[in-house]
Parts: sequence; C-alpha cells; structure tokens
Amino acid sequence: MSEFHANSSDPRITAPHIQAILSQHGYRLTGPRGWIVDQALQHDRPFTAEQLVAELRDHQDGRAAGIGRATVYRTLEILASVDVLSRVIQPNGSAAYVVEAPGHRHHLVCSSCGTTISFTACPVDTLVNTLTADTSFTIHDHLLEVFGTCPDCQEPADS
Ligand SMILES: [Zn+2]
Ligand SMILES: [Zn+2]
Repeated sequence: MSEFHANSSDPRITAPHIQAILSQHGYRLTGPRGWIVDQALQHDRPFTAEQLVAELRDHQDGRAAGIGRATVYRTLEILASVDVLSRVIQPNGSAAYVVEAPGHRHHLVCSSCGTTISFTACPVDTLVNTLTADTSFTIHDHLLEVFGTCPDCQEPADS
C-alpha cells in the first residue's frame, strides 16, 4: 500500500467504517450525527465547521436543516477524538477538516485550490528523538504541513 493517499481520488473512509469506529468507542451514529457524517464525506477537500453548518441548513432534506451549530461542532469533536477527522491549516491560516482513516498523518495542501494529499510517512520522528535526548522533554505530538501548487494549478510549461 502506498504511503501517499490522495483524498480526491483514492478510496476513502466510508460511513459504515466511521460507524464501526464510533461504536467501538461507545458512540452511535444516529439522526443528526449521521447527516453530519454524510455531509462531511461529500467533501474531497478540507471543509470548515461553518461550511457544514451552512450546507446542512440549506440541505434539500428538511431533517438535515434542523441540525444546530452546537450539534455540528460537538459531532466534529467526537469524530476528531476517534481519529477519523484531521485538522489542517489552510494557506490563509484558518483551520479546516478532512475525514480520513485513523492513523498518524501529515498533509500536503495546494495553495491555489485547496486539494489536500495525506501522507503517513513521518519525517519528524528523528527530530523528536533528538529533541527528547537534548531537552528531556516528554514529547506528545507534533504538526507538519506542506504547502505547494498541485499539477492542475501549475502553469502549463511553454514548449
Ligand atoms: Zn491546486
Ligand atoms: Zn509526524
């Protein structure tokens, strides 16, 4: 299996998989939570909580329209706590989310269109070991994000 996973094209985590993970942690994916997960899975690029709130409010199915902001935020919190939701920082500095299979991940983000590639290869481990040895800190976590321009957004080369 490749260590690189393009959110936009490769098979992604599905609602039943998320349901299974949630139930392992004692959560049930019913009613509003189910709608929120379905809506989150529509996105192949990072989305914000406010985006989801607005989409659910405008949803064609009235049952989704009744879902409040607090429920959306609480559900995203739960999804993050069971590790199927990752936070990414967008090029403008604001936070957004991607839904993906659990595991340690970093992200490569296109500064033009927001396309996000997850990768599981972690280049920070060596640095963490050095820092631990040098500082005696107990290190819990780290963030690394890489920004660039995806192939679709690059100027075609003149020939
Ligand atoms: Zn792009
Ligand atoms: Zn890492």
